[in-house]
Amino acid sequence: MDGILKKSLIEVRDMIKTGKVTSLAVTQAALRRVDETASLNAFNYVCREQALARASEIDAGIAAGKKDGALLGVPIAVKDNLCTEGIPTTASSAILEGFIPPYNATVTEKLLGAGAVIIGKTNMDEFAMGSSNETSYFGPVLNPRDNTRVPGGSSGGSAASVAAYQCYGAIGSDTGGSIRQPAAFCGVVGVKPTYGKVSRYGGIALASSFDQFGTFARSVDDAAYLLSVISGHDDRDMTSMKDGYVYKKPDGRLPEGFRVAVPNEFVERIEDKSVRTAFSAAVGRLTAAGAEVEYVSMPILDYSIPTYYILICAEATSNLSRYDGIKYGKRAKNPADLLDLYEKTRTEFLGVEVKRRLMLGNYALSSGYFDAYYRKAQKVRTLIRNEIRAVFGRADVILTPTAPTTAFGFNAHSGPLETYLSDIFTVPANLAGCAAMSVPDFGAGALPVGIQIMADISCEDKMFAAAAALER
Ligand code: GLN
Repeated sequence: MDGILKKSLIEVRDMIKTGKVTSLAVTQAALRRVDETASLNAFNYVCREQALARASEIDAGIAAGKKDGALLGVPIAVKDNLCTEGIPTTASSAILEGFIPPYNATVTEKLLGAGAVIIGKTNMDEFAMGSSNETSYFGPVLNPRDNTRVPGGSSGGSAASVAAYQCYGAIGSDTGGSIRQPAAFCGVVGVKPTYGKVSRYGGIALASSFDQFGTFARSVDDAAYLLSVISGHDDRDMTSMKDGYVYKKPDGRLPEGFRVAVPNEFVERIEDKSVRTAFSAAVGRLTAAGAEVEYVSMPILDYSIPTYYILICAEATSNLSRYDGIKYGKRAKNPADLLDLYEKTRTEFLGVEVKRRLMLGNYALSSGYFDAYYRKAQKVRTLIRNEIRAVFGRADVILTPTAPTTAFGFNAHSGPLETYLSDIFTVPANLAGCAAMSVPDFGAGALPVGIQIMADISCEDKMFAAAAALER
C-alpha cells in the first residue's frame, strides 16, 4: 500500500493544498488500494473515471490559486443510500439496480462543495436493514480485520473501506446503530450525530424519525472534522436543526468535573470477555483522565429493542411504498393488471429481510392493532427518551460498549430475533435522537472492540472530548 494512504484526512488535505502531493496521485493510490482489496466487496460501485477527472480538475484549480475546500482533493467513500447525481445509487437492493439519481443529496452536495473526491458507493445491508451486511443484494462485505467475519451493518462497506485504507473517511447512515456497530466491528471511529444535525434530503429513507447520516474515519479528530463538513441547516429537510456541528479540535483533555454515567443494565448484557475487558479499561482511562464515573440504573432500556423494531418497521412500510415498479427502478414483466404489477415487482425484487419488516410494519399499523403496537411503541419511545435525557441532567456522557460481542462470523445467528437483539446498545440513542459514537479499542483481544459514547442533543463537543480521551 502507498504510504500516503496512512496519513490522516486532515494531513492529506494540507499536503494537497500546499502542493506536496497532487489530488490525482492520492486518488490513484486510493483506487489501487480498492483494487488490491477488492475481495472485501466494500463497494457496490467504484466511480473510477469520475474520481480521476475530478482529482485532475481540483489539481488544476489549485495550480490556478483555488485552494479553498475543507476536503480539497481528498478521496471519500459514500454509502449507497445517498443520492449521487449521475452515479448509480441502489441501497443494495435489486429493485434499485441500475437507478441513476438525477440529483445530489445535500450531504453529497456538501462533500463536493468542500472539494472531496467521491471514489464510490459503499455496500450496505438492503435498505439499511441489518447488522452484518449479509442482507445486501450484492453479497456481503468481508471484515478487513478477519475475512471470516462480518464487518457489521448496515454501513459495512463504509466501515470496511476506511479500515482497509481505501479512503480517508466515509459517510454512513445510522437508524439504530448502522454507523457505530460496523465501526466497532472494523476498528474505526463512527459518529452518529444528534438527529437533525445532518440533512436527510436525498438520502434513501428507512425510518425518517430515526435516520441520521454521519461519518467514519480512523481518528476521532478526522471523524469530527468530516462531520462538520456535512452538517448544517437545510431548508429541504423539515427536521433539520438550526445549527450544525462546528469543528473544534479535541485536545484529549476532559473538561473540569466531567461526569460519566454507565447503565448497569448494559454492563450485564455484555457477552464477550474481550468486550468486558475493553469496557472496564475504558472506564479506567476516563477515571484516570479525571472523570467522575457513576453507575446508573435505567430499566426502561429493556424495552428499547421492541419499541425500535415496531416503529422502524412501521416507518419503513410507508417509506418503501414508493418502490412499486412504476416510479423507480425495476418492474416485473407481464403483469395481469396494476395490482399484479405491484405485487410481482415487490415479490421479485425485494429481499427476504425487507419483506419481513414490511409485513411486520403493516401489521403494527393495521386497524385493530395500531393502538396495541404502533401507538404504544410511540409512548414507550417518549418514556425512553425522557429517561435518557434525565440521565444527561446528571452526566455529560453515557458510556457503554457499542455491541455485546466483537465481529461475529457469517450466518452466525439462529434467526432474525437474535440479530435484532444484538442492537441493544445502539438503538436507545436513535430512540432519543441524541448524539452517539463508537471509538475502537484494540487492547483486549484479536478483534477490535467498540466503546460507545452517548451525549445529549447538540452536545457533540462533550462526546468528542471523551472520545479523544479514550482514543489510543
Ligand atoms: N441493525 C439495525 C437494523 O437492522 C440498524 C439499522 C440501521 O441503523 N440502519 O435496523
